[in-house]
Amino acid sequence: MTVRQRIGVYPGTFDPLTLGHLDIIRRGANLVDRLVIGVTTNPAKSPMFSVAERLIMVEREIADLPSVSVVEFDSLLMDFAEREGASLILRGLRAVADFEYEYQMAGMNQQLNDRIETVFLMADVSLQPIASRLVKEIARYGGAINKFVPPGVAADVARRLEAGSGASSDAAGE
Ligand code: ADP
Repeated sequence: MTVRQRIGVYPGTFDPLTLGHLDIIRRGANLVDRLVIGVTTNPAKSPMFSVAERLIMVEREIADLPSVSVVEFDSLLMDFAEREGASLILRGLRAVADFEYEYQMAGMNQQLNDRIETVFLMADVSLQPIASRLVKEIARYGGAINKFVPPGVAADVARRLEAGSGASSDAAGE
């Protein structure tokens, strides 16, 4: 008898990957047989790191999680999920700020493909306030970000800021 694997996708910008994201990844990995992290290009957000850099960053930080992998995607989320054979889309939910957008997106995605469920997870309470946008803002003003991101990511951000503009080398082309 073949047992169908339960596959989940976790889409996001991950610019940069935070401890909040990693907590959701660990919790999500416990719910599925295979978790595929989808890094979106999302040019509207003028990212600090290119997609290629974010893929390397995420890959490095999930190295200890054998059932988790990471890929780039720039298609409709439902098409990406379908392509990966996923039955679940994982999203993290932070307090009220995320709710309206996530609620709308999950509702519209349900209309596009009713076979794929969106599942919302809460990060550990101590990690809930963390947002990539604020991590970048704190770092740009010289604040310490080591409570919010893994050490490797803190080093990536420091290097990017030392190098100059704080924008990814190919941000304009993303
Ligand atoms: P997006 O551009 O899709 O919002 P992000 O990289 O900002 O991508 O976030 C990806 C997902 O992770 C989103 O569902 C977001 O709500 C969730 N997330 C981000 N930070 C946290 C956190 N600290 N706690 C819980 N969920 C989070």
